Amino acid sequence: MAGFLISVSGSVAPAWHEVEHSTQLRTDTAWLEAAWADPRTRVLVVEDGQTLARVGDGAAELVFFSPAQVPDGTRFLLGVDSDDVAYFGVAAAIPDPDSDVRRAGLRDAGTLLTDRDAGLLAHAVGLANWHAVSRFCSRCGAPTEPVIAGHVRRCTAEGSEHFPRCDPAVIMLVTDPDDRCLLARNAQWPPRRVSVLAGFVEPGESAEQAVAREVFEETGVLVGAVTYAGSQPWPLPHSLMLGFRAQATGTEIAVDDEEIAEARWYSRDDLREALLSGDLIMPPSLSISRWLIETWYGTRLPHPAAT
Ligand SMILES: [Zn+2]
Repeated sequence: MAGFLISVSGSVAPAWHEVEHSTQLRTDTAWLEAAWADPRTRVLVVEDGQTLARVGDGAAELVFFSPAQVPDGTRFLLGVDSDDVAYFGVAAAIPDPDSDVRRAGLRDAGTLLTDRDAGLLAHAVGLANWHAVSRFCSRCGAPTEPVIAGHVRRCTAEGSEHFPRCDPAVIMLVTDPDDRCLLARNAQWPPRRVSVLAGFVEPGESAEQAVAREVFEETGVLVGAVTYAGSQPWPLPHSLMLGFRAQATGTEIAVDDEEIAEARWYSRDDLREALLSGDLIMPPSLSISRWLIETWYGTRLPHPAAT
């Protein structure tokens, strides 16, 4: 888990961000042209949420191209690092990989990447996903074209501007009056895999209201106090996960049997035992769900020696 930021005692949620987004440069056409002509410039080619990575034992690094090597596609500026190296993404067909590299995405390689690489990949994948579904104007149906270094699409018929979407979702660790934590298994997950609850924010709803609604819908548990904990970008395809702690006012559980197959309360001892015996499997270590659980648990979660 190279360089992945986590603090189980503090309030730092998983986030990746080491290359400045450099928003002021997106309208500087002379700078953009010079950066694209600079062989030091590093380009990620993104296709279907994936790029090329060199994956080794317990670590992975992204494969960057120089601008001259990159196939035609939708180009966007990702940012500039502290050495003044510019980073771009291009949504295009990924060139055939060399033998030592392979296609990789956030899900399979996210935990293996450095913070810088994970941040660049999350940014690039989020923008590429948005470009892929935004080729036509949602107002009039005419084609749109990328402008502002690939961060806006403009309607070619009437000039309306369309911005990348970022859908808010809530993810919440619910505790009961005895400070036990509510973990649930999604109906689509394999046996033994559990996590905290999550759901999308609906129009007209605050994030805190979404927390209370989702917890009640999925498990029948009523919550009182809801407090913000931290957030994580999750561009699959375009979400921002807002993490919360929620206090249940009761302990009775009635799962919805649609989205959630089972749910129960765990004390810290219950959870430690279930993890060590292999009765439970936790979310991957890059996820805000695991971070929320670990902030409640108080330290890193144990895992069986065999895995
Ligand atoms: Zn239009």
